[in-house]
Amino acid sequence: MEIACLDLEGVLVPEIWIKFAEKTGIPELRATTRDIPNYDELMTMRLGILAKHGLGLQQIQEVIATLRPLDGAAEFLDWLRARFQVVILSDTFYEFAGPLMAQLGYPTLLCHKLTVDEKGMVTNYNLRQVNPKRQAVCAFKTLYYRTIAVGDSYNDTTMLAEADVGILFHAPDNVIAQFPQFPAVHTYADLKQEFLKSSLRELSL
Ligand SMILES: [Mg+2]
Repeated sequence: MEIACLDLEGVLVPEIWIKFAEKTGIPELRATTRDIPNYDELMTMRLGILAKHGLGLQQIQEVIATLRPLDGAAEFLDWLRARFQVVILSDTFYEFAGPLMAQLGYPTLLCHKLTVDEKGMVTNYNLRQVNPKRQAVCAFKTLYYRTIAVGDSYNDTTMLAEADVGILFHAPDNVIAQFPQFPAVHTYADLKQEFLKSSLRELSL
């Protein structure tokens, strides 16, 4: 049995925080772990900015609902789901991903969760577990699934290494250079070919 594990942001949908920053015109929300390496510090800052601007979960979701999956992502996912069991492993939050998952037909998603108070304000965040993408692949292995994983960034590389096959998609040059052991592709057509090559089954386009 084979299972496909996909990262979400950068692979199927845009970077949610960056798009959200653009849509709301709040530039401080563009900061990523590259700017503030301590994730807790980064998230605490983000939640503070949301509160300062009076953005509760409903307003946030309304903005996110205006975002669209990447061009061709929905068709690619349909293609993949017709051939593989697919699970999306993401470092986003269920509450943020919801409006985008609706546009992708609600595939299985394992990610983190927010705490929202009675006024609808986001007060905290809850990580699913430490090293969640790699741990999910480890778990599928205990179920005797062969795993083919796809990601675009540093937070995917332990998942790609743990999987039977790891593929970089839409990755920046520095990630590709640092992880030459993974094939790197940039279009959904090429990603389909990588899946066909990686599968032990006889599959066709
Ligand atoms: Mg990503």
